[in-house]
Amino acid sequence: MGRIIAIANQKGGVGKTTTSVNLAAALARLQKKVLLIDLDPQGNASVAVGFDKDSAEKTIYDILVDEAGFDEVVSEIEEAGLDLLASNGDLTAAEVELLEEDMGPTRLSQALKPIKERYDVILIDCAPSLNMLTVNALVAADGIIVPVQCEYFALEGLSALMDTIETVQSELNPKLHIDGLLRTMHDRRNNLANDVSNELVSHFGMKVLQSIIPRNVRLAEAPSHGESIFDYDMSCSGALAYLALANEVVRKTQI
Ligand code: ADP
Ligand code: MG
Repeated sequence: MGRIIAIANQKGGVGKTTTSVNLAAALARLQKKVLLIDLDPQGNASVAVGFDKDSAEKTIYDILVDEAGFDEVVSEIEEAGLDLLASNGDLTAAEVELLEEDMGPTRLSQALKPIKERYDVILIDCAPSLNMLTVNALVAADGIIVPVQCEYFALEGLSALMDTIETVQSELNPKLHIDGLLRTMHDRRNNLANDVSNELVSHFGMKVLQSIIPRNVRLAEAPSHGESIFDYDMSCSGALAYLALANEVVRKTQI
């Protein structure tokens, strides 16, 4: 119960937000009680589920820095069937403020402890950085899913991420488990994508998730409508792939 999964990769544009939003919505469709946490100051995940981030009275920033209560900040997103801790540009300041505190890296973990059991799964959409916010996510998490775009240079940066995961495991969070590397934006007709996909499997073996997210324009369109892929176009290849991923994650992690 209450598994916390960070969706992280310090590379931008690899599909972290798309995966966070649509995996969260898919798990909700499987009747799981889901909390989505937007931990990126860009607030893309908040906007993607139709939340007006700039008129938000309180965001995840207030939880991390001002010790606001969870119930003051959480929003119910009816259409996607999940709860959201939203973010906006304010969160940029949290990065600096948390760095100045001894307990900085454990702030999110502490804040989630009292509410963790209310949910079957809590997904954290991380910023494209290995900064203090991402460290907070990794310290709070039971598992991490790493989206990897099937393109040249995809593996670059993964060793820095693995080093960070090991450091967090040895110093702050021994329970952190790699729930899987997720191949995203995959195009079957592209030889390079297939090569990168195979290379990933030969490097990381069983850590690579079986589900593969195809390149699908509907996934790129849905956020501008403030809808998950299931509300935007339930029958497209992207929706089917995220549903398959949700089933695989449920099987693997027993949430
Ligand atoms: P990140 O959060 O890692 O920066 P995003 O999820 O925002 O990455 O994705 C980067 C861009 O690629 C966005 O414009 C998004 O809509 C698009 N995108 C993500 N996944 C797919 C996909 N499977 N097919 C097509 N476009 C995608
Ligand atoms: Mg993002």
